[in-house]
Amino acid sequence: MSTLNADLHCHSVISDGTLTPEVLAERAKRQGVELWALTDHDEIGGQARAMVAARQQQLPYLTGTEISVSFAGKTVHIVGLGFDVDSEVLRGGLAQTRSGRDQRAQEMADQLARVGIRDAYEGALKYAGNPDLISRTHFARFLVEAGVCHDTPEVFRRYLIEGKPGFVPHRWASLKDAVRWIVESQGVAVIAHPGRYGFTDNEEFALFSVFKAHGGQAVEVVTGSHSPAEYVTYASLAIEFGLAASRGSDFHSPQESHTDLGALPWLPGHLTPVWDLLAHRVH
Ligand code: AMP
Ligand code: MN
Ligand code: MN
Ligand code: MN
Repeated sequence: MSTLNADLHCHSVISDGTLTPEVLAERAKRQGVELWALTDHDEIGGQARAMVAARQQQLPYLTGTEISVSFAGKTVHIVGLGFDVDSEVLRGGLAQTRSGRDQRAQEMADQLARVGIRDAYEGALKYAGNPDLISRTHFARFLVEAGVCHDTPEVFRRYLIEGKPGFVPHRWASLKDAVRWIVESQGVAVIAHPGRYGFTDNEEFALFSVFKAHGGQAVEVVTGSHSPAEYVTYASLAIEFGLAASRGSDFHSPQESHTDLGALPWLPGHLTPVWDLLAHRVH
């Protein structure tokens, strides 16, 4: 086992989490996290705050983000860790990735209006701490508030997913570009929660192969999104593809997330922890 309590995946109000970077840093420390990264969706606007807050907590910190990518007809997430926050290539790439979100959100609201749910755009925007980053999570919170659903899991069964009202297909970054932005910024690219995509074996093989070919170096094995059986599956794939392994809760909110910061099993011992590749990038 690698018994470092690293949590290298979570979200703040800068994307779709409900806590500020400062409160997350305190919570991570309290939870026993020993190496932390804030990985807001398509945004690094919270990195300076997270870094200062982590330093105040004497909590070692790696820079982070989670980039939305379109691959084989699905949305895949690529986490970047340990990059240079001043990188123009990364900043430009993320700005471009964020740019379609507002239009998409208006189209989502138009669809919801057609099934009788009014003013969802305004309702979702109220929950968005960063108006540049309106996401399905903010719509989910609005739909719960409006009494349409009991909780966010119910929202993601009945709305906002393919084939249901409020789903708008979207073209995100390419896998090649997302990995390149991270690598050119001195970071390490990580396939986030591969167990969540519902790919066939062939599609998954293609994802790992193309990711690796473009310079990707790691995969999340122990994550709040995986079952224990998936820890085993993705530990094997990490070995097969020569990838390092990451560990992260994907914590969004005390009310919504079932895995708290740092509250995860250890990374299996036969894997190379991604933090072994990033020792020189720790703040
Ligand atoms: P977006 O980037 O706007 O497509 O929103 C994606 C976000 O929605 C994810 O990062 C999750 O936070 C949330 N999400 C997606 N699927 C689910 C689900 N089944 N249950 C809860 N949250 C989900
Ligand atoms: Mn999210
Ligand atoms: Mn994700
Ligand atoms: Mn995430």
